[in-house]
Amino acid sequence: MTKKVRVRFAPSPTGSLHIGSLRTALYNYLFAKKTQGIFILRIEDTDQKRTVPGAVEEIISVLRDCGLTYDEGPELVNGKMIEKGDYGPYIQSGRLDLYKKFGQQLLQIEKAYPCFCSAERLAELRKKQEAQNLPPGYDGHCRDILKTEALERVNKGEKHVIRLKVPREGQTQTEDLIRSRVSFNNIILEDAVLQKSDGFPTYHLANVVDDHFMEISHVIRGEEWLPSLPIHLLLYQALEWPAPEFAHLPLMLSTTRKKLSKRDGDTAAKDYLKEYLPMALLNFIALLGWNPKTNQEFYPNLDELAKDFDLKKINKAGAIFDVKKLNYINREHLRISDTEALSKIAGLNLPAETAKEYLPMALDRSEKISDIKKSIQFLLNDEINYDRNLLIPKNSNQETIRQNLTEIKYFLNNLKDQDWQLAQGLKETTILWIKNQGKTNLEMLWPLRVALSGLEKSPDVFDMACALGKSRTIQRIEKGIEQLI
Ligand code: GLU
Repeated sequence: MTKKVRVRFAPSPTGSLHIGSLRTALYNYLFAKKTQGIFILRIEDTDQKRTVPGAVEEIISVLRDCGLTYDEGPELVNGKMIEKGDYGPYIQSGRLDLYKKFGQQLLQIEKAYPCFCSAERLAELRKKQEAQNLPPGYDGHCRDILKTEALERVNKGEKHVIRLKVPREGQTQTEDLIRSRVSFNNIILEDAVLQKSDGFPTYHLANVVDDHFMEISHVIRGEEWLPSLPIHLLLYQALEWPAPEFAHLPLMLSTTRKKLSKRDGDTAAKDYLKEYLPMALLNFIALLGWNPKTNQEFYPNLDELAKDFDLKKINKAGAIFDVKKLNYINREHLRISDTEALSKIAGLNLPAETAKEYLPMALDRSEKISDIKKSIQFLLNDEINYDRNLLIPKNSNQETIRQNLTEIKYFLNNLKDQDWQLAQGLKETTILWIKNQGKTNLEMLWPLRVALSGLEKSPDVFDMACALGKSRTIQRIEKGIEQLI
């Protein structure tokens, strides 16, 4: 029987959830869903100095908004933090005793050693290494202190950290599910700190202890953690625990092929959610590094994504975060969304019938959520302002256009109510009339379009006229005529 899949998303609450971390969460979620496994949220807050208040709440709410429901982990219920699952606590600061226990065990079995070096000595060492162009790293100064002496000093309360005793020869290697064989020469690895002098574990120790006790089967995380992998593998070996499988995801790059950073614009997932539908954002980031090896790019929901998702189809090369593609994908998702719900999301709160009539016009021209309101603002507010010159198309003149608007006003006003029911019908009747008048569509419909919308680029003129209805259409035309007198 194969082992039950248990995966975890393990962010550190050191600031806003990065868009790259959201992708890590998504891939973990999809993998669990695909394999009927368990998806866990674990908060890695052992670096207390870098912990930001409110960050855990933000992580939870972004995951919730995105529908990335986890089976185990901390949850916010009515403003209170609770934990679900049998493997808790799921916030590392609640598990300190466990890490201490294994810090001690590693000392006992001499897979780790206490290091008493002062901050000054370490700074001095770094300076020397820099001066000699040597790679920075601990020189093993306390590594050979006899165990009895070292423990005596510890017991006397001498300030120390605990370091992993990395073997001086050989290699540490594994088969990464994305990168195949990854291998590290032990000689270049540093004796990493496992426990800091304040008794808090470092990321390495807490991460390995938790992955073991939470029975994590697969560690799916960003490539930036690859340098930590040999330390983790050595810890599993030292503690005689089986290591999970690993999958290191490719970096997210900016369009200039550098690691995506604040300078490239937003990196906080929550900021993207202000402008993009959650599923559009997930659809887009899912394709950053993974592709289904078909032409499919549009995924309407997480179930469809999970069906196609496969760790084996993740690329090694960095994935370029191209906002143009995100805009395009969002547009496709906007088009299939319920119009009433969209009107709420866009801050319009239109009644269902009005939303159904107005929203399609906005969707033709919206890439982001805020575009929706902007593009149909003119339908909602009769106080539209525009430059009167906009009414006059190129190579025409004020007099002709005033005349044309007056004629079309009478024509439209004389149409029966039933002619106003459907944009298509209104269009056919009007175009036929324009032709019979011996006029051009440009000189008739351009000013009409501007008079109705105040915009240079607007939705279809007959869609607008139908949505506005007869009397508002006539009023707007009159306003246009007034401006040309
Ligand atoms: N706490 C790490 C982070 O912030 C977790 C890395 C891992 O998944 O092992 O991403």
